[in-house]
Order: sequence, then C-alpha cells, then structure tokens
Amino acid sequence: DTLVDQIAAGEVVERPASAVKELVENALDAGATRVEVELEEGGARLIRIRDNGAGIARDELALALSRHATSKIASLEDLEAVATMGFRGEALPSIASVSQFTITSRKADAERAWCLECDGGRLGEPEPAQHPPGTTVEARELFYNVPARRRFLRAERTEFGHVEDLLRALALARMDVEFRLSHNGKLVRSWRPSRSEDELLRRLGETLGTGFPSQSLYLDESAAGFRLSGWVGLPTAARSQADQQYFYVNRRLVRDRTVAHALRQAYADVLYHGRHPAYVLFLELDPTRVDVNVHPAKSEVRFRDQRLVHDFLYRTLHRALAGTRA
Ligand code: ADP
Ligand code: MG
Repeated sequence: DTLVDQIAAGEVVERPASAVKELVENALDAGATRVEVELEEGGARLIRIRDNGAGIARDELALALSRHATSKIASLEDLEAVATMGFRGEALPSIASVSQFTITSRKADAERAWCLECDGGRLGEPEPAQHPPGTTVEARELFYNVPARRRFLRAERTEFGHVEDLLRALALARMDVEFRLSHNGKLVRSWRPSRSEDELLRRLGETLGTGFPSQSLYLDESAAGFRLSGWVGLPTAARSQADQQYFYVNRRLVRDRTVAHALRQAYADVLYHGRHPAYVLFLELDPTRVDVNVHPAKSEVRFRDQRLVHDFLYRTLHRALAGTRA
C-alpha cells in the first residue's frame, strides 16, 4: 500500500542522510566489505549505494520492497536477540515509496544480476541486468511525489554535510570495511579498510585528527556482562569538541543521556573540567538487555538496566583516566 509506505517514510526517511543510513546498514548486514555512496545535489537528485555483499535473488527482490518483509527475523526469539542493525522491514518500501527507486542485485553464485524498478511505490517486473556480485540501490528525486517534504530539504551543502557526518560515524564503527563517498561526480572521501593495528590507528587519525591516536588512551574492560572498549582523548588532545564524541552500542551509533552523563561525570571527577572530551567508545552487551530500535530514524536506545550501565561506564572510565594522572 503506497500510502501506508509514504506515511512510514515520514518516520524512516527524514532527509537524504536517513535514507543513506538505512541503505548502508543494509549493505553491512549483507556482509559487504566495500560500500560506495554516491550523491547528486546533496542526495535530493540521486542517492546510489553500491555494495559487494551477499546480494538478493531474483525472486526475493519484490519481497525486499514489500512492507515488513525482512529476511532478518524468523522467530520471536530472533526479534529479542536481533544482532543486525535493522530488522523492521520498513526501510526499502519506505524509501521506494517517495523516490524513483531501482535495486539491482546479484548473488555470488547467480549467473546474472536482476534489476527491479519501483516508481513512487509502483513496482515493476524484475529485468536481467549487468552487475558484479552484490547490490546497488538507487533512489532518485527523493520526495518528488511529496512536495511538502521536498521543500523541507535544506541547502545541498547542508544535506551533504549530514551524510558526511553519518559516514564518518559508520567508518569508525566498521574500520574493517572500505567506504567511498562521492558528491556530484567527485570522490570526496574514502576510508581504506584497516586490518592491522597500524592501519586502525591511521584510520582513527584520519577521522578524528592526526593527533588523536597518540593523545588518547585505549581501554578494553569487561564486567557484569558489559564490555567497553575504544579510545578516549586525553586533555592534551589538540582538538576536542562535542562533535567528536562517538558512542556505539553493539556497533550502532547512539546518543543517549545516561551514557553522556556517565562519561561526562567520569571526566569531570578526574580532571577534565569544562571540556568536551573526544572519544570513540564501543559498549557491547547482550542484545536482549537493550532496545536499539526505539525509533527508526533516531539514534536512541533503551537499556533494560539503566543504572547498571551508567555505573559500569562511569567506573570503567574513571579508573582508566585516573591511571593516566599518576
Ligand atoms: P530490514 O533491513 O529491516 O530487513 P529493509 O527494508 O531495510 O528491512 O530491507 C528488506 C530486506 O531486503 C532485508 O531484510 C534484506 O533481506 C534485503 N536487502 C536490503 N538491502 C540489501 C543489500 N544491500 N544486500 C542484500 N540484501 C538486502
Ligand atoms: Mg534495513
């Protein structure tokens, strides 16, 4: 139902960056090791995401574009313990209902690729196509059939900036994956995959400023079923701004008040008064102890035991920072 999809699209797709987020997460869910993002006019004219992931079979293409058809949950237990980033089965139908949409895909063992078009929610028939193993999704003229939303889009530079921020965050979470970002036909940024320690630090420096790796502290602590790992900037770090705070829960970027409070408090109580600490931190916990899908487009989470999470983060960071003062 196109109308239902368009209403859902209002939830899932706020702007080009939110569509890019869903599409890149799909590529990562499909096991891609290389993801290319191409935009035209800040994404308003064109969003194209290419991946080298598992691909979609011809007969599954239409299903991928239908509502609540997800390949990612087979049972209620799966829903509880969902390890992938998206499982609502809403992203593709939503994006397809508000754009001129094409998906082209080939499974590694398939003889050829197949392409399916969907114009503002009207689905075509799969056609044979040329494509290496993997998937390319194209969304043209975002919101062309929802003028009120189209008008709401900001300047090209603003929309592109949101996509750049998003890719930076994804590139930090998945340092093993190669990302490329192009705008209006020009390659703007690329992140080479990093497999060794050196490559990891190089990529961290490329993203947070070249001084960051040497002026930060690496930590990796586990307790009570939680694991916190990553890098926190020391006060000597050349640049430390509020926009250099990356916190991931089970590899998904999150903005959460409990988390922010615990970290800020730990910094303040040791020595970093009045500064915005820079950090890239990963919290891992059993997926049943957290709901990361509170709102499709927002990076909110709901912890089952908020207090425990807060105390674990505070104590771990406090101890690590206190160690550097000695
Ligand atoms: P969800 O990610 O919540 O399952 P989506 O609407 O984002 O829902 O995607 C629907 C389905 O399409 C996915 O479950 C997956 O099977 C398939 N799919 C989407 N994008 C890709 C991709 N890049 N590579 C392989 N399969 C994909
Ligand atoms: Mg998805």
